[in-house]
Amino acid sequence: MSDFDIIIIGGGIAGASLGAEVAAERRTLIVEAEDQCGVHSTGRSAAFYLESYGGAAVADLTIASGPFLDCPPPDFSERGFLFRRGGLSVSDGPWPEVPDGVPARRIERGELETMVPGLRLRWTRALFEPGCADIDVAGLHAAFLGQFQRAGGSVATGSRLERAAWSDGAWSVSLADGSNLRAAMLVDAAGAWGDEVAVRCGVAPLGLEPKRRTMVQLRVGRSGLKALPLVNDSGGTFYFKGEGDRTLWLSPHDEIPSPPGDVAPEEIDIAVAVARFEAVVDWPVEHVERSWAGLRTFAPDRLPVYGFDPAMPQFFWCVGQGGFGIQTSPAAARLAASLLLDRPADPMVAHIDPDAFSPVRFRR
Ligand SMILES: Cc1cc2nc3c(=O)[nH]c(=O)nc-3n(C[C@H](O)[C@H](O)[C@H](O)COP(=O)(O)OP(=O)(O)OC[C@H]3O[C@@H](n4cnc5c(N)ncnc54)[C@H](O)[C@@H]3O)c2cc1C
Repeated sequence: MSDFDIIIIGGGIAGASLGAEVAAERRTLIVEAEDQCGVHSTGRSAAFYLESYGGAAVADLTIASGPFLDCPPPDFSERGFLFRRGGLSVSDGPWPEVPDGVPARRIERGELETMVPGLRLRWTRALFEPGCADIDVAGLHAAFLGQFQRAGGSVATGSRLERAAWSDGAWSVSLADGSNLRAAMLVDAAGAWGDEVAVRCGVAPLGLEPKRRTMVQLRVGRSGLKALPLVNDSGGTFYFKGEGDRTLWLSPHDEIPSPPGDVAPEEIDIAVAVARFEAVVDWPVEHVERSWAGLRTFAPDRLPVYGFDPAMPQFFWCVGQGGFGIQTSPAAARLAASLLLDRPADPMVAHIDPDAFSPVRFRR
């Protein structure tokens, strides 16, 4: 007899959202290595929702998640998690493009100047996405964990999976504190540690690549920033969004391969961010208020991975959420839950082909 039907490794947004979907039907435990859930990638994001981000297959998951994030069921949350600000993809070359189905309109230089006063002349055109929004990431993550626990799920923090072995029809799981548990199924939702956890369970890695991204909170000599759209470069060298009246969050769009861990920003990346920002707008930079970094973890084709490993059928992958794991979490969790529990596709994701996200694509 197993202690649990499902043990989910990792209590970030991936583990919490999938747990929330399955806990009512299976005895489920989330094991989280840290003393609290959400301190790694989930707690370090730029917290925006941008439908065009990540290409067509990711856009399907994002768009499917939008209504839930905007207006969740009342038993999940009394308020929505999205705060619209719109997003501008600015270009100094050709018109930016978005995947089919993403609402967007072209903006010429004249209108662009009124939307982003002080934008340097080099930026001649932009695509505006009205659906772009800030996400209340902490609120969303807490709501997923709340639903998980109300449905009967348990969370064990400070519980690092050390290793697991499949024997006598169940997983035998050893935690770092020396305790042992048995479970019928394991879910790998360990973010940057996804491959490391798989290897500890005797499963071949997928080739996941954690990449460091830097965020900088800047104070500038300009007010009214909170009302402005998110501004990103269609060439992928920066993005920023107003955070307070005179502060903004800025990223140099860096992707520096890094081993899994508690990453910190490097001075050089902060300097690059500020230099790129100064080439975009004429707003005087006053000072860097704070900076942080986190890992965005990608599968080799930069699509997420949801499904049972073909060589170890009771090992389920829920990894590779890259830079879109928050905005895709409601739909991704529904899709993953239907695969995990072998139940019909949820209406939220019935139009999305789960094969695009299957780990089988890396095992051929
Ligand atoms: C700077 C930055 C900006 C981003 N901006 C956005 C954005 O604007 N919008 C968006 O949608 N996404 C964004 N993302 C991406 C998003 O944050 C991630 O896709 C998402 O948080 C991944 O969630 P996760 O649960 O897979 O990983 P994590 O939150 O890292 O959770 C994995 C957990 O697994 C635990 N773990 C690891 N090994 C073990 C073990 N052996 N035993 C037990 N537990 C273990 C870890 O402690 C960790 O808590 C951004 C990411 C970064 C870094």
